[in-house]
Amino acid sequence: MLTILFAARPERWPMYETPLKRALEASGVGPFRLVTKAPPEEVDYIVYAPNSDVQDFSDFPRLKAVLSLWAGVETIVGNPTLKVPLTRMVDAGLREGMREWVTGHVLRHHLGMDAHIKGAPGIWAPTVPPLARDRTVAILGMGALGSACAEALLALGFNVTGWSRSPKSVPGVTCFHGATGLDTCLSTAEIVVLLLPNTPATENTLNARTLALLPRGAFIINPGRGPLIDDSALLSALDTGQVAHATLDVFRIEPLPEAHPFWTHPGVTVTPHIASETRPGTASEVVAENIRRNEAGEPLLHLVDRSAGY
Ligand code: NAP
Repeated sequence: MLTILFAARPERWPMYETPLKRALEASGVGPFRLVTKAPPEEVDYIVYAPNSDVQDFSDFPRLKAVLSLWAGVETIVGNPTLKVPLTRMVDAGLREGMREWVTGHVLRHHLGMDAHIKGAPGIWAPTVPPLARDRTVAILGMGALGSACAEALLALGFNVTGWSRSPKSVPGVTCFHGATGLDTCLSTAEIVVLLLPNTPATENTLNARTLALLPRGAFIINPGRGPLIDDSALLSALDTGQVAHATLDVFRIEPLPEAHPFWTHPGVTVTPHIASETRPGTASEVVAENIRRNEAGEPLLHLVDRSAGY
């Protein structure tokens, strides 16, 4: 009998209990009990949200893997008490949510919607946007989510460039990698979408130097993680007009403190970390499949590379 511990905020349990049970039964994983509490020495797997109360894994002697419900694992990846494999969430729900959120915000800036939505009686000032084919969108981070967004933007006709750590070949996307690749990628990026993980290597990817490489009046869209951007450098770039607008979903401190200048800056849109939420239905299937695989001696999907940090 496998003991599977669901370790997330208590309000998540009612959303996950049924789909997770159903997915585990359908996967044919064998007899299991799915619980929110168990003596640590009985636990085989932890279905895990990094903001759960479980932070010390040294008490779980028979633990086989920790299966994160989140895509971003920066707060658990360096946990020295975690000695078993860690997987992160890659699923259709996260992908679709991110694709929709990113596409919506790219189109808002591409079409210049704000100017027309905020129009007033007597003001008739048509500004015709370019076609998508004449607009370059750069996606920093061409992983599970970045590549899904690239595909959707390509389908709309945008000229899409992408940047990743390792070299990539994605049909229709001009791909760059490494430090010099970033500079080249940014030099044509009229809209930049950040979908990098938060690691020591990605901190302040957008800083005073790299923001200055963008074409003047570029737009920044960050659904990745707050530390990817140097906040003060971004505010300066907004003040000089180097950056026209930043739509930010994620921040160094969340919730974003009330006194933070992003709240009131006219060039910033703040959204409360809602770009893409893990959906219990699709996420449960991935968790169940990974437990089935591990029990069958097959490799786990979406294994985190602990040394790379994502
Ligand atoms: P992923 O599949 O691991 O993709 C990460 C991408 O970033 C990969 O292309 C990777 O390059 C690239 N990368 C990593 N380190 C780099 C570096 N030092 N230089 C250049 N490129 C680098 O991750 P994902 O599933 O797409 O998720 C991306 C991030 O989105 C998550 O880590 C999380 O922070 C964020 N997220 C936010 C929300 C939200 O609601 N706001 C929801 C879900 C996820 P390689 O391809 O070469 O490995």
